[in-house]
Amino acid sequence: MVYPGEAYREDMGTLSDGRITVHIGLRTCCADCMLNWASEQKSHRRRRFSWIFACCCERVNSNMGEPHTAGQRRDEEMKILVINSGSSSLKFQVIDSDSEQVMARGVCERIGIDGIFNYKTDKGIVLKEEVSMPDHKAAVNVLLKTLVDKEKGVLSDYREIDVIGHRLVHGGEKFTGSVVVTDEVIQAMTECNDLAPLHNPANLVGVAACRELMPDTLMVGVFDTAFNQTMEPKAFLYGLPYQYYEKYKIRRYGFHGISHKYVSYRAAQFLGQDPKRVKTIVCHLGNGASISAVKYGRVIDNSMGFTPLEGLVMGTRCGDVDPGALEYLAKKENLDFPQIMMILNQESGVLGISKNYSSDFRELKDAEIKYNEKAALAREIFAYKVAKYVGSYAAAMNGVDNIVFTAGVGENDSDIREEICSYLEFLGITIDEVKNRDRKEAFKISDGASRVNVLVVQTNEELEIARETAEVARQNKALENKG
Ligand code: ADP
Repeated sequence: MVYPGEAYREDMGTLSDGRITVHIGLRTCCADCMLNWASEQKSHRRRRFSWIFACCCERVNSNMGEPHTAGQRRDEEMKILVINSGSSSLKFQVIDSDSEQVMARGVCERIGIDGIFNYKTDKGIVLKEEVSMPDHKAAVNVLLKTLVDKEKGVLSDYREIDVIGHRLVHGGEKFTGSVVVTDEVIQAMTECNDLAPLHNPANLVGVAACRELMPDTLMVGVFDTAFNQTMEPKAFLYGLPYQYYEKYKIRRYGFHGISHKYVSYRAAQFLGQDPKRVKTIVCHLGNGASISAVKYGRVIDNSMGFTPLEGLVMGTRCGDVDPGALEYLAKKENLDFPQIMMILNQESGVLGISKNYSSDFRELKDAEIKYNEKAALAREIFAYKVAKYVGSYAAAMNGVDNIVFTAGVGENDSDIREEICSYLEFLGITIDEVKNRDRKEAFKISDGASRVNVLVVQTNEELEIARETAEVARQNKALENKG
């Protein structure tokens, strides 16, 4: 008996130039099952091995996988530079689109101050160097030089980078998907700057630096708001006079869309489901935290709003607060709007509730063990609020199949997960306490009796950006070929 997903044949050969080829015959009952199996394989296997697929009903060579040998570059294979540019930092990864392996990753920090360059490759090179980076262009220059360096690099020429994928925070209502970066796109994004004054201008500085240094390289913009653009007016409109939406586009946008998309699809893939047929609630619980309701592959609600301030109690952000309380506070403490916003963004959340003990859930946990009441209260409020949102999103979707925890707290804090799930017994959720202590890229923590699948999935925003970027690049190439 050969089970779906089980390798039934391995043929190994050596080419004249010494490269190894391995063909695996893999029986699968469906594409989901096969993809799941493939993604479970260790990274070195995925790169060195090629596949011959046969499905259970013996239809050999399903079109899901095209055999190819290691070292060979397929037509559609791309090297993608993923850039996430902030005001004084620039995170990067070089990803091979075919194997989805990260060839190099790192971050340029303290841009415009002094400059620290952190860099790591899949060949084990690790750097942390002080390098002068007066601006983002200088930072990209350092990055490109290192990528092609004979000893430290992973490329022989920076023109090996086929396409650059930029993480862009706010696309307003203009961008509902990823796009090729053109002058028009930059203009449209600049018009969204007011919506995200802390993020969008910093993103655009990174785009400009890359365009200047690599003018011939295709660039793609991937927006953090785009996946949430499927929300309907009943979910995205505030109870404010309609004219403010018409005049200023004041509405809920939702954030963390790149992560919500990756995680909701990965969870369905892990469970062998079609993402277009399931209702999933994704709890992205990091320093910034948001929850989304993803019904049949489309977001119908997201807990963040016009800005990332709305929704859950976060590391330092307040989440939902009655605006009337803020007016009262402003009067009592004689504060103006910027001061109030600073308190809401930087001094609130679990940090504020714990009386400035910490915004880090590990430190709060340690403090709770030592009977720090405010630290315990901060964690309790956090879990309670997450559970309330999950409950309301189960109602919004008229049911839920999967609940998925992700990001720093969601992936690592099993106690918080257990506490949140204890509120959700009414949904028929039961957790396996042993499985809940597991640590893997993706795993299920609900037990066999649970009516809802509860999972933990490591988010991978860079990989999602690389996938979107590759897709847009392929479409662009197809259009060019047609034209
Ligand atoms: P962001 O991307 O919003 O900065 P992350 O997703 O990286 O946030 O999450 C960071 C948070 O994750 C930290 O502030 C910390 O509270 C939490 N975290 C990280 N590791 C653990 C852990 N092992 N246990 C509990 N919390 C953790």
